[in-house]
Amino acid sequence: MKPLKVALVNIPLRVPGSDKWITVPPQGYGGIQWVVANLMDGLLELGHEVFLLGAPGSLAGRPGLTVVPVGEPQEIQQWLRTSDVDVVHDHSGGVIGPAGLPPATAFLSSHHFTTRAVNPVGCTYSSRAQRAHCGGGDDAPVIPIPVDPARYRPAGGGVAKEDFLLFLGRVSPHKGALEAAAFAHACGVRLVLGGPVWEPEYFEEITRRYGSVVEPIGEVGGERRLGLLASARAVLVMSQPVTGPWGGVWCEPGATVVSEAAASGTPVVGTGNGCLAEIVPSVGRIVDYGTGFAPDAARGTLEELPAPDEVRSAAERLWGHVSIAGRYVEQYRRLLSGVTWK
Ligand code: UDP
Repeated sequence: MKPLKVALVNIPLRVPGSDKWITVPPQGYGGIQWVVANLMDGLLELGHEVFLLGAPGSLAGRPGLTVVPVGEPQEIQQWLRTSDVDVVHDHSGGVIGPAGLPPATAFLSSHHFTTRAVNPVGCTYSSRAQRAHCGGGDDAPVIPIPVDPARYRPAGGGVAKEDFLLFLGRVSPHKGALEAAAFAHACGVRLVLGGPVWEPEYFEEITRRYGSVVEPIGEVGGERRLGLLASARAVLVMSQPVTGPWGGVWCEPGATVVSEAAASGTPVVGTGNGCLAEIVPSVGRIVDYGTGFAPDAARGTLEELPAPDEVRSAAERLWGHVSIAGRYVEQYRRLLSGVTWK
């Protein structure tokens, strides 16, 4: 079948406190940008042509990839209206929409939030839990977050495991940073706490209660991030059913960090919040909500985690970028043939 021209629209955001755009992949914190980066890798490997929008400054120079230097929503929309792509695959959370696109162009949006999708027609979800939470129809495709293993360093590939646990995400109540610290404390193992702090009181509570095991390192990117992901004993993804950033009870939609940890040969300890109940069991263990971890049980959970090779191959098998890109291409072709869903 003929290769497709796909416009991938990243969520256009600037680096906080700067004029620069957050790129694909991102300079630091940024789950959606990693989803777009890994999907782009898969589409390019399958031979499709990719036009990346909403991320000016992203690394170009790969065959088949054009980084379109537009970031403002109106400019993105304008470019899309006048382009001859086959498909617009939107990750912008509704910043752009299907209005005004040439009639033969298919519009698919991947929803990354916990609210109702702005463009529910032709929308895909990252987990069944997210689809149900956001009111997506039973026929709306669920496609998990892709990971390109080549972007990660497997443990055993020159990275030795060290005796620490890793939290890598925004240090916010819904992401369970406090509960991750409680788990590490119960295990008696150091917790490296990586990520931006936007709620200082919450951060202070973590250091006040569990400061003896917590090592805050702020937001990390680049090589340091890769090294931490590969050398940690486990990554803790302890999302909690508390009010999330968009209101309502938090339902973890896709959890980019889970597939990144697994591709790095690092198992995951997670709660069963949202998508985590669907993806963590293949690469780790589920634990309860809250901070009440008994030391023996917590240490037992660490002991029984799957081995690095096992989680790396689970990541490749379940979330490999080429097969996930193929699942999206299938949906692009359905939309192009006139099928849609809500
Ligand atoms: N991240 C990072 N540096 C940090 C904290 C987080 O690179 O200091 C990345 C992390 O690797 C992941 C993303 O930010 O790719 C967070 O996405 P996730 O889906 O896990 O969480 P959410 O988008 O819900 O905050």
